[in-house]
Amino acid sequence: MTERPADGNPVAPPGSRTPVDIVTPALVARLARGVPGSGRTVSRTPLTGDPLAELPESGPADVSAAFERARRAQRTWARVPVRHRAAVLLRFHDLVLRRQAEALDLIQAETGKTRLHAHEEIQGALGTARHYGRRAASYLRPRRHRGVVPMLTHVVESRRPKGVVGQIVPWNYPLALAVGDALPAFTAGNAIVTKPDTQAALTVLWARELLVEAGLPEDVWQIVIGEGPVVGAAVVASADHVTFTGSTGTGRTVARQAAGRLVGASLELGGKNALLVLADADLDRAAEGAIRACFTSAGQLCESVERLYLHASVADAFLERFVARTRALSLGAGLDYGAGMGSLAGPRQLETVTRHVEEAVSKGATVLTGGRHRPDVGPYFYEPTLLEGVQAPMAAFAEETFGPVVSVHRFADEDEAVELANATPYGLNSSVWTRDARRGGRIAGRLRTGSVNVNEGYAAAYGSVQAPHGGMGDSGLGRRNGAEGIVKYTEAQTVATQRLMPLGPAPGMDDERYAALMSGVLGVMKALRLR
Ligand code: NAD
Repeated sequence: MTERPADGNPVAPPGSRTPVDIVTPALVARLARGVPGSGRTVSRTPLTGDPLAELPESGPADVSAAFERARRAQRTWARVPVRHRAAVLLRFHDLVLRRQAEALDLIQAETGKTRLHAHEEIQGALGTARHYGRRAASYLRPRRHRGVVPMLTHVVESRRPKGVVGQIVPWNYPLALAVGDALPAFTAGNAIVTKPDTQAALTVLWARELLVEAGLPEDVWQIVIGEGPVVGAAVVASADHVTFTGSTGTGRTVARQAAGRLVGASLELGGKNALLVLADADLDRAAEGAIRACFTSAGQLCESVERLYLHASVADAFLERFVARTRALSLGAGLDYGAGMGSLAGPRQLETVTRHVEEAVSKGATVLTGGRHRPDVGPYFYEPTLLEGVQAPMAAFAEETFGPVVSVHRFADEDEAVELANATPYGLNSSVWTRDARRGGRIAGRLRTGSVNVNEGYAAAYGSVQAPHGGMGDSGLGRRNGAEGIVKYTEAQTVATQRLMPLGPAPGMDDERYAALMSGVLGVMKALRLR
């Protein structure tokens, strides 16, 4: 039975298992085997606030040693044919599918999200494994190009692995993000040194265990654990390419460090995503979709919607539906399916969420529902919250809250909606609700975000792994998924083989005649419409 306090969101049943029952010292020791470091660090579960795992803590020297091991292993791994490397992903896919309950437990224990939201990570990991398992060979195959002298210059572009990729992962989607970036890098022939967030390190270590079981040589994936500014910086200091997911602030620091070393960096950063409800939207579907878009993982999803723009003619009718659904969302800390929304990830998120709501209210915003810390459910639970009247310079207006806090605004016409949605330096995701798909597509073309979901919040674009995914503006550099998601882990190498005649005057030909000959040849090439 779901219990409902006098007012506020109801509470889902707690379930019989706790994070501490699941994460035993034996499990921690098994997963953390091989993590270098003589220090110790303790992670806590946000569901209860209890200590969860005592893990090895790496230092900068451990990171250097991990890179050395990875470099040695990478030389051999790069010689394995790509179809064999890709086959590891397909075996990994089946292992994750079979053993998903273990990962769901770990993800819930480490992040505090509901089981259904944790399952999104399983879906993400499986999608990536299947896609690159099947498509990597075609993305990476050598390509012939027309040479400078057609027929006589034979040109092949091939893709070489970067070497050892440095990967930095946040706590919010530890499985989907770690695997989403790592699998294409491995398939392209790289090794990786990963620094997960300590709070969610066990989930990443679990993924590594399964990938090794699927056939990845152990030393090809090194995992180091420790503080971001120390261990993360040491990873960036040795990497041949950096793949970073986290906040825009840290992303800038990482980008500067990578730029100083002239190594590439792909950066998946923050967002302040908008959802637009147009006058012709199906309001029931839109309200249901907005619940998922705003409150999945308690809003701690880079794609989460924090700004709602409603056409004035439907705003009240939409809000009636949306507020009712938001109020009905149950909060739950159980390790079973059923709860509507889980916990915030810890004290830092709770502080930000509380500060954004309190500041907005103190400056005149109205709470339509929510707005309360719920320690009766767990130490970091916070109700899904809707605010009206949020405006600059309130922090909730333009800063990423990264929590279940959404501001509601009204617009008069399409131009105003687009202008308001685009009025942010971020550019990750947006969502448009309309019964007219062509209109949705037209508006999408005017929105400055890396993904636009029409009649869905975020999952349609995010789950479509064949298409690139990432952010514009302050939301990042580069893309994951699709061709871009694997090609970025390679260097292009062009091999041109010249046949029969050299590219210069033939013996006895004077320079002027040669220049005239080449001018003629180039003119003919244009006339023949050669590309
Ligand atoms: P964060 O930037 O604080 O930390 C991210 C990671 O960087 C952690 O592993 C951290 O230890 C490490 N780190 C910290 N300082 C570092 C440094 N100086 N050098 C190297 N590494 C360092 O972010 P967070 O709070 O853990 O994660 C939430 C943020 O991540 C949000 O802004 C969210 O929008 C963003 N995010 C983006 C995406 C995306 O795909 N665009 C996905 C998930 C999360």
